[in-house]
Amino acid sequence: MSDEKIKEEKSLNFLEEIIDEDIRCGKYKTIVTRFPPEPNGYLHLGHASSICLNFGLTKKYPGYTNLRFDDTNPEKEETEYVDSIKEDVRWLGFEWKHEHYASDYFDTLYEFAVKLINKELAYVDDSSSEDMAAGKGTPAEPGTNSPYRERTVAENLDLFTRMKNGEFPDGSRTLRAKIDMANSNMLMRDPVLYRIKHAHHHRTGDKWCIYPMYDMAHGQSDSIEEVTHSICTMEFVAHRELYDWLIEKLGIYPSRQYEFARRNINYTVTSKRKLLQLVTEKHVDGWDDPRMPTISGLRRRGYTAESIREFCERIGVAKRDNMVDVGLLEFCVREHLNRIALRRMVVFNPLKVVITNYPGEGEMLVSENNPEDPAAGTREIPFSNELFIESDDFMENPPKKYFRLAPGQMVRLKSAYIIRCEEVVKDAGGKVTEVRCTYVAESRSGNDTSGIQVKGTLHWVSARTAISAEIREYDRLFRTENPADEEGDFKEYINPASLNTITTAVAEPELAKAKFEERYQFLRKGYFCLDKDTSPSRLIFNRTVTLKDGWAKETKKKS
Ligand code: ATP
Ligand code: MG
Repeated sequence: MSDEKIKEEKSLNFLEEIIDEDIRCGKYKTIVTRFPPEPNGYLHLGHASSICLNFGLTKKYPGYTNLRFDDTNPEKEETEYVDSIKEDVRWLGFEWKHEHYASDYFDTLYEFAVKLINKELAYVDDSSSEDMAAGKGTPAEPGTNSPYRERTVAENLDLFTRMKNGEFPDGSRTLRAKIDMANSNMLMRDPVLYRIKHAHHHRTGDKWCIYPMYDMAHGQSDSIEEVTHSICTMEFVAHRELYDWLIEKLGIYPSRQYEFARRNINYTVTSKRKLLQLVTEKHVDGWDDPRMPTISGLRRRGYTAESIREFCERIGVAKRDNMVDVGLLEFCVREHLNRIALRRMVVFNPLKVVITNYPGEGEMLVSENNPEDPAAGTREIPFSNELFIESDDFMENPPKKYFRLAPGQMVRLKSAYIIRCEEVVKDAGGKVTEVRCTYVAESRSGNDTSGIQVKGTLHWVSARTAISAEIREYDRLFRTENPADEEGDFKEYINPASLNTITTAVAEPELAKAKFEERYQFLRKGYFCLDKDTSPSRLIFNRTVTLKDGWAKETKKKS
């Protein structure tokens, strides 16, 4: 482990410092955190950082983490999203103590609202949303009191009951907290607590036609579950005052809200609303398209949970919003895959090589599965007198210092022999269709007595036993670093070349046994995994990541 890593592990982030102190001074013996997604989309990398943070804290300190679906917005929420969220959290390696739904608290939240009315801290407002907005004032100017602000408790109770009973249309009335229309915090200027919405809910069905607003649901759900540290992103800083006000006035469990910076990743978007547009407008092939920054997309692409956790660990928590380089994510997955991926040979764009002096049908050679992990063992690779190499590993008229195959030049075939190019066969159009070579019988890898030194080593596949495969290579989904901040529609910045499908690939026969849970390094090509579109008649591989950071090199060249 590097010194830097050790230092990183020793220093606490600001939330750990707070919790350390809370436990040290005896404020809490155990802590409770929660991960509170709204089930209106699939989880993305930003959520992963919140998951790792919340669950990470209760791994480090005594206590537990709940999964709570913040499902107070009936129209946009679906059970499909609930299921995908649970799958993703588990896949990332975390198990929640309790599974809760804010909608399970609708009765309790309603009672809380009634309690506020009885304490003259809430009133039913008949103002239109325009009038209400106009009455809010501006940060520089105080708002004005609503004409409905002084309704009696009895009148408010009657109207609120009738709101619940479905007597009024959507938008005709709201329940507002009675706080202070001159407060410097705009959110404290009589915020709306309940609105009328005749909509079907994914869990409560048609039972309710009034729904609590975020501020009337989130903090109260925290209190009901006795969450000690309620961690959210910075945009909720201004909500904290209202969060505390409601807890105090309702006299419920004093959960505390802490904020950290949202994590944004460059060359993509981390907003469920935007990702949903990509899906519904078919810019991608569903939420789990391997180009998506969703957990399910990354999983399908071959990212490991370990690499995503490592990425979240390395970016840590901060108080200021920042953009994280996707290169760091790729670095993390490369590191992990280098340790676990099985090495295989696949030729993407084959050129035939015939070995004219090779006797017999062929033989089995042996190669290690992973030089980084001797326990991964070895495999057999069939060799024969007809092989495929990569088309661009051959040049008829090579420049100087070209160490691959060219007329009269020698190369080593990985785990096999040294060959020399003797003759080039072309079609009528002058295109090279075959390269005829001789091999050096004493040069077999592991038993090389030839004494010949060559600079180039090529991957190859025996033509007699090759199996065909489709390869999907992915590039960044967007052309610009921060598409969400560009002028116009973010979708104008989609990279038109983000998917490159190769249908000509041939693979060593071992890959016929490829498994979904296995990871592969195709020599000289990158890291790959089997895609779910694979069928018994067609193997399809996704490129998870290249072997080296080609992108960084590209951008350096340009600048
Ligand atoms: P989106 O804008 O994508 O819908 P959201 O914040 O509305 O995101 P929620 O489902 O409400 O999504 O989020 C669940 C939890 O994940 C919240 O605590 C939220 O703060 C956190 N979260 C969401 N996006 C990020 C992000 N980019 N970085 C860090 N945490 C995030
Ligand atoms: Mg949200």
